[in-house]
Amino acid sequence: MARVDAVVLGAGIVGTSVALQLAKRGLAVALLDRRPPGEETSYGNAGVIEGNTLFSHPFPSGFLALLRVAAMRATEASYHLSFLPRVAPWLLAYRANSELERRIAFAEAMRPLFARALSEHEALMAEAGAERYLRKEGWLKLYRTEAAFTATAREREMAARLELPFRVLDLAGAQALEPALAPVFARAVHWPGAGSITNPLGLTRAYVARFEKLGGIVLNGDARTLRRAGSKWQVGTQEGLLDADAAVVALGPWAPDLLDPLGLKLPLAVKRGYHRHFRARGNAGLNRPVVDTEVGYCVAPMEQGLRLTTGAEFADRDAPPTPVQLERLMPAANELFPLGEPVEANPWMGSRPCFADSRPVIGRAPGQSDLWLAYGHAHWGLTLGPATGRLVADMMTGATPFCDPAPYGAERFAR
Ligand SMILES: Cc1cc2nc3c(=O)[nH]c(=O)nc-3n(C[C@H](O)[C@H](O)[C@H](O)COP(=O)(O)OP(=O)(O)OC[C@H]3O[C@@H](n4cnc5c(N)ncnc54)[C@H](O)[C@@H]3O)c2cc1C
Repeated sequence: MARVDAVVLGAGIVGTSVALQLAKRGLAVALLDRRPPGEETSYGNAGVIEGNTLFSHPFPSGFLALLRVAAMRATEASYHLSFLPRVAPWLLAYRANSELERRIAFAEAMRPLFARALSEHEALMAEAGAERYLRKEGWLKLYRTEAAFTATAREREMAARLELPFRVLDLAGAQALEPALAPVFARAVHWPGAGSITNPLGLTRAYVARFEKLGGIVLNGDARTLRRAGSKWQVGTQEGLLDADAAVVALGPWAPDLLDPLGLKLPLAVKRGYHRHFRARGNAGLNRPVVDTEVGYCVAPMEQGLRLTTGAEFADRDAPPTPVQLERLMPAANELFPLGEPVEANPWMGSRPCFADSRPVIGRAPGQSDLWLAYGHAHWGLTLGPATGRLVADMMTGATPFCDPAPYGAERFAR
C-alpha cells in the first residue's frame, strides 16, 4: 500500500495550488481527482486574477431589479423555480450579507488574500514556466448609466484609501484602451492591478506539471472513499489504496459530497455560470477582460476565442444546463462588441462554490484530526488558488501563517 504525508482531494486550481505549495516544502504529496486536473470549474472561468476586489457581489436590490429577476428577464441572475425553497435560507443569509457594512467587513477580512493573489500566481508561474498565460493589462468595468457608476462609489472610495490603483474613464478614455468597444456606455473604470489568464486550463496543467517535477503524484480516484484507518486517512485510487497522514478537501462545489457524510455539514450553495467562445468580426479584439456591469457578463479574450461568461444561476448543482442567461445577454453583448460565430456548439456550465458570506473555508476541519478544508472560493477561485495554497501549507507545516486565518475558519458557522 502506498503512503504519503498528505493527499489533496480535488485537482482544480485550488487543490493543485495546495498540493504544489506542500510539495515545495518537501512533503510527499498525492493529488487525487476523478477527472484529469483542471477540467471542472477551474476550466471555464473568466480568467481574471482579481487582486483589486474589495466588495462581494450584492444580492439584487431595488424593486425593479428584483422584479426582473423574478420574471426571469434579468441577465445578471436566474433561477430554477423548483430549487428556490431549498436554497431560500441561503439566499436570505446572502441578502443579509449584501448590507454595506457587511460588504465592507468582507473587504477587510479578505484583503490579505486578495493582496497576495497576483504575486503568488506570478511566483508559481515563474517556476512552472507558465508566464505566457499571464496578461498584466488589468480589467475594465463598464457602466452604461451614470446612476450605475455612482452606485459603486463606495468601493472606489475604499480603494483610494487603500491605495489600490484604478482610473475612472469617460467613453473616449475607455475606447483608447479598447478601440473595438461601441459607444453604448457612459463610464468605465480600469483596474490595472488585476491580471488575466489566456487559458485557465493550461495554467492548472502547468502547475500540475511543476508539482510532478517536485515529486508529487497525480492519482485518479473517488474522494468519497476517504476513510479513517487508525491514525491515517485512507482513500481508494485506481492504483490501489493510499494512506495519508493528512487529507485536504479541495473539491470545490463537490466538497459536501464528502463532508456531509462525515457529519461536517457546512452551508455551501452554488452559483452556476456559463460561458461560450465567439470569434471576433474583422480584426476586432480585446486587450483585457471587459465587464458590462449592469447587464452582468464578462467578455474575456482567451486562446480559444472571446469567452463570454454569465452571472449567477440558482439551481441544483446537478440539474441539466439551462443557459437562458446567455441568450438574454447576447443582444447587449452584440451591441457592445462585434462578436462573430460561436466556437462551440453548446455553452459550457460550471458551479461557483459559495458560502453566504462569500468567504471561502480555509483551515482545519472541526472535529476531525489532520483533515483540512480549502473550498468555497465563489467568484474568486482562480484568483485565490495560490494564496490559499500558501496559507494551507503554512498552517499544515506549523509555519507562521502569512495572514490571520480566523476569518476563513469553518468554526464561523457554529456561532
Ligand atoms: C462562469 C464563471 C466565471 C468565473 N470567473 C472567475 C474569474 O474571472 N476569476 C476567478 O478568480 N474565479 C472565477 N470563477 C470562479 C472559479 O472558477 C472557481 O472559484 C474555481 O474554479 C474553484 O476552483 P476549485 O479548485 O475549488 O474547484 P474545481 O475547479 O471545481 O475543482 C474541484 C475538483 O474536484 C474534483 N472532484 C469532485 N468530486 C470528486 C470526487 N468525488 N472524487 C474525486 N475528485 C472529485 C473535480 O473533478 C474537480 O477537478 C468563475 C466561475 C464561473 C462558473
